Amino acid sequence: MFIKIVLYFCNFASNRFSKYTDLSERKYLINIYSGCQYFQMFKTLSYCGIFFVLLSCSHPKSDSVNSNKKRTNITHESAIIDCNYSFEEAIKGSKAPKEIINQLELITVKYYSTDRKIHQGQILTNKRIADRILILFNYMFHEKFPVAHAIPVVKYHWDDDASMQANNTYSFCYRDISFSKHARGMAIDINPYFNPVRWKKGYEGHLNKPSGAHFNASIPGTFYRLNPVVQEFKKLGFRWGHNFTMKFDDHHFEI
Ligand SMILES: [Zn+2]
Repeated sequence: MFIKIVLYFCNFASNRFSKYTDLSERKYLINIYSGCQYFQMFKTLSYCGIFFVLLSCSHPKSDSVNSNKKRTNITHESAIIDCNYSFEEAIKGSKAPKEIINQLELITVKYYSTDRKIHQGQILTNKRIADRILILFNYMFHEKFPVAHAIPVVKYHWDDDASMQANNTYSFCYRDISFSKHARGMAIDINPYFNPVRWKKGYEGHLNKPSGAHFNASIPGTFYRLNPVVQEFKKLGFRWGHNFTMKFDDHHFEI
């Protein structure tokens, strides 16, 4: 309201200014008019300041979709570094469309590996399940459930079989979307060599994978029905591949 009154006065003064011929009156009006000019300038600068503040607040920060935020399950432990990709390096060579790449996040995870030492790896996964993956790695860490290593599949040139053969834990690997939740990073495979795919009765003609792997529940890092890690996955809404119709996909969990 105050601004409106002052502006009205400024307009009134400037409109009437030319009508005054008396010198003292005119000087008086000049002073007022100059004051109004300064006020107008101040007001304009204020508006500019407010505009730039709002612009900087509303401007999106660097695209969080494609940034490597270095989110991790454990922050206070030193670790053997299994990989340390940037987001750009982790997606390099993937044939996934941008629409899918934009759904991904690269998270840092720490785990006890099979050497019983703490390792640091990374999981390239869908942002929708990234929080749950961090919770699960936190759980496995505190349970000392071994994870052989967790390295984005780019290391294996996007060859899922090579990654499985290496007992590697991963989430995103682009492939036929209608066939696999890994194509959007909505699934995770953990210790595939310890938890191989075994085809169920009636489907024995298919090859178990990875080749040479055998299920042995006594090996640490193996999943079985009452395993606490399996229960934790279920609690967080994951479906376990062990319950698939045709195969026991024991290393596989998906949303
Ligand atoms: Zn899988």
